[in-house]
Amino acid sequence: MRTAEIKRRFLAHFGANGHTIVPSAPLPAIEDPNLLFINAGMVQFVPFFLGQRTPPYQRAVSVQKCLRTPDIDEVGKTTRHGTFFQMNGNFSFGDYFKEGAIRLAWELSTNPVDQGGYGLDPERIWVTVYLDDDEAIEAWQRIAGLPADRIVRRGKLDNYWHMGIPGPAGPCSELYFDRGPDYGKEGGPEVDEDRYLEFWNLVFMQYEITDVRAKDDFDIVAELPAKNIDTGMGLERIAVLLQGVDNLYEIDETRPILDRAAELSGKRYGEKSGPSAAESHPDDVRLRVVADHVRTSLMIIGDGVTPSNEGRGYVLRRIMRRAIRAMRLLGWQGPVMPELLPVARDCMSPSYPELAAEYDRISTYAYAEEEAFLATLRQGTTILDTAVAQAKQAGGTAISGDRAFQLHDTYGFPIELTLEIAAEQGLDVDTDGFLRLMSEQRTRAKADARARKTGHVDLSAYRGVLDAGGPVEFTGYAEVTRETTVRAVLDPTGAALPAAGEGTSVEVVLDTTPFYAEGGGQQPDTGLITTSGGQVEVVDVQQPVPGLTVHRGRVVRGEVRPGDSAFAEIDVRRRRAISRSHTATHLIHQTMRNFLGEAATQAGSLNAPGRLRFDFNTPQAVVPTVLRDVEQQVNEVLLDDLEVRAFVTGIDEARKLGAIALFGEKYGDQVRVVEVGDYARELCGGTHVARSTQLGLVKILSEASIGSGVRRVEALVGMDAFGFLAREHLLVSRLAELYRVPIEQVGERVEQTVGQLRDAERELEKLRAQLVLAGAAGLAEQARDVDGVAFVGAEAPEGASANDVRTLAQDIRAKIPRPAVVAVAARSGGKASLVVAVNAAAKDRGLSATDLVKGALSGRGGGNADLAQGGGVPADQAPAVIAAVERALRG
Ligand code: ATP
Ligand code: MG
Repeated sequence: MRTAEIKRRFLAHFGANGHTIVPSAPLPAIEDPNLLFINAGMVQFVPFFLGQRTPPYQRAVSVQKCLRTPDIDEVGKTTRHGTFFQMNGNFSFGDYFKEGAIRLAWELSTNPVDQGGYGLDPERIWVTVYLDDDEAIEAWQRIAGLPADRIVRRGKLDNYWHMGIPGPAGPCSELYFDRGPDYGKEGGPEVDEDRYLEFWNLVFMQYEITDVRAKDDFDIVAELPAKNIDTGMGLERIAVLLQGVDNLYEIDETRPILDRAAELSGKRYGEKSGPSAAESHPDDVRLRVVADHVRTSLMIIGDGVTPSNEGRGYVLRRIMRRAIRAMRLLGWQGPVMPELLPVARDCMSPSYPELAAEYDRISTYAYAEEEAFLATLRQGTTILDTAVAQAKQAGGTAISGDRAFQLHDTYGFPIELTLEIAAEQGLDVDTDGFLRLMSEQRTRAKADARARKTGHVDLSAYRGVLDAGGPVEFTGYAEVTRETTVRAVLDPTGAALPAAGEGTSVEVVLDTTPFYAEGGGQQPDTGLITTSGGQVEVVDVQQPVPGLTVHRGRVVRGEVRPGDSAFAEIDVRRRRAISRSHTATHLIHQTMRNFLGEAATQAGSLNAPGRLRFDFNTPQAVVPTVLRDVEQQVNEVLLDDLEVRAFVTGIDEARKLGAIALFGEKYGDQVRVVEVGDYARELCGGTHVARSTQLGLVKILSEASIGSGVRRVEALVGMDAFGFLAREHLLVSRLAELYRVPIEQVGERVEQTVGQLRDAERELEKLRAQLVLAGAAGLAEQARDVDGVAFVGAEAPEGASANDVRTLAQDIRAKIPRPAVVAVAARSGGKASLVVAVNAAAKDRGLSATDLVKGALSGRGGGNADLAQGGGVPADQAPAVIAAVERALRG
């Protein structure tokens, strides 16, 4: 059964049983700052489980795109872990519970194929339950007729679910399928998790817990009033079972990628491995890694993430690099993505047709990233070659751990390649040193992660405030002041205070507020909150949890208490300047798309008072004339005096209107649309001006690359734009005055001046070189006797040409009547070069210019016994190179 069909049946089964079919959220769409990618089907329903929002349905079903980076090292080594995978899930919000979940899962798993089920053999299914969950055991026996010896009780580590924070929790029950003796030892899931493959996990959310100290250590405080069901079935894992293949990488959605990779690298997949994971040959593991990672890259870029050096973009970069590297280790030297990505597209587009429609955009990023990585590999190879040469010259036998780590960390150069290349050169690598540095780095990363976790726990205090009073209404679209009430006063860690006196830093929560919390790229409002007892100066406004607006600032007068009446007023001038920037961003975004096509999608933005930053995805640099055209069109549009309107409508309606939505952003059913006349229409929660003329003027300052495929435009708006132009005009006027020419001629005059200056510098250089050549006689006099040979070692002046250097060496040699060796080094363009001249009397003593140059430059150089030259070492090695020639004379 094909994977797409398994997915269809899952949705159909639960759809027929009263579940609303909810589409997968995009991979990067998460409100949780601790998660980079969605990693389970329940993530998009978290606010329902936490009771923060009321679900519009009581039963839901989804097939969620998931990514688990912690599983990256398992890929290919176990039979059952992918980085990207799909999780089928059914959810009940206070509706059916254990019995319903078990019945629905059992029916779908074991119903015959011709009746819409998966037709698994009931005799081969095992289940696990939490230690004391007799209710679940009873249900499994009654509904499924499972014998007691195929129901295994397991502890909290395996069979208890929670989110690591105070909140809902509960026991789980997992379904396993026995794949038979070929795959491992008998005895159930406790004995062998590869033979007994977990394919479905049912979570019974029934308790509230607090004080989570560890995965298996927390306090249960109450039964949940409304019990929930959350299940997850790995789509790929059930596909393994229904397609009768050995592992996740051999199902229909990945096998063609694996086969193509094997074909390219001339390997025969499976030839040297047994059926169980432990018996895998390293080449087969690599082929699985390639298949998994290429598919994962496709899915990530498909959801709008582009490669970069941090966050999600870095995960993508790492995964792509692993795939390319694995292909190199398999022996394939050609391009990887252009060969394999189209295969992945064909595998996945039956379930995700948008991948085919957007393949141009996706492949542009993937191919560009591969080229960039190959350049890195080349650069790394050069550095490694130098390290090899140095190690050999110093008589060493190994590349240092430092160097290997630097190559890995700074240049992304894989340690496996370092080992391989070093081995070819007959050298070792200090892997112990390398591993030590790696583990130090990991410790640092872990400490970071812990610090972030603490932030996580803190959020629960904010959640408490939100739960107690509901979401804070924002009234700032329509008004700039508001009479309201102080709901809570918090200290900077989120802990509630009974009162805060003058001088304290506080966070104030109001019942309603005109203050805009930072979000969607728009900077927060600032202003004043005056209460019955005091006053707070607000410097920042944030939403630590969605729905809860927190005003951060300092009590400047009196005392502030929860329950006080309050008058909130924002800094109107600042707000207006921010709104102008935000509207200008929409106009620039739309205009960029007009000129560059729809692929120019927004990647980030900043709307600050009077200035904006707009990042967008595009594989090529933007030609300067396009930027000028964009700027001109934006200014024309704002002079058209278009009305700016905002309204709330259904998401489908908004799409029909052609409103721009952002990639990877998750939108609810109801969305806010902001339109500037008929020119630009975008989903947006920000504040804007009322008419486009209020922008006054937009001036684009610059455009630059900020990572592969992402470009940044910066612009000024309103008086800030005017001020900038006025200052530039003043500057040009001053130049015109200095040159005593009309403004139009300033450019020409500057060009002339620069040209003249350059000519003068060249002339100067020539004179300097001549002067030094004239010094040949002086240098000849300074000859030192080295073992009976007159030796002159000197550096040519900067700017001397290669010709000058050779002439200088020959001139010096001609002035010495005894056996003589002359070594002249020169620096230019960051490199040092060396010329050695040897006279006939010295040659008679067996000295040769070529040998001396090659000896000093580890083989790099050429010429004859009289005169030879070489180069290519860093400039600061010039003195060392001269010294090496002198040493050779002694030797
Ligand atoms: P395992 O112990 O095998 O790693 P898990 O306990 O991490 O699994 P859950 O978090 O319970 O898995 O996820 C629910 C289901 O999602 C699992 O039963 C499995 O079918 C599937 N699943 C989990 N991780 C992966 C993965 N990396 N690749 C493919 N499927 C997965
Ligand atoms: Mg796992």
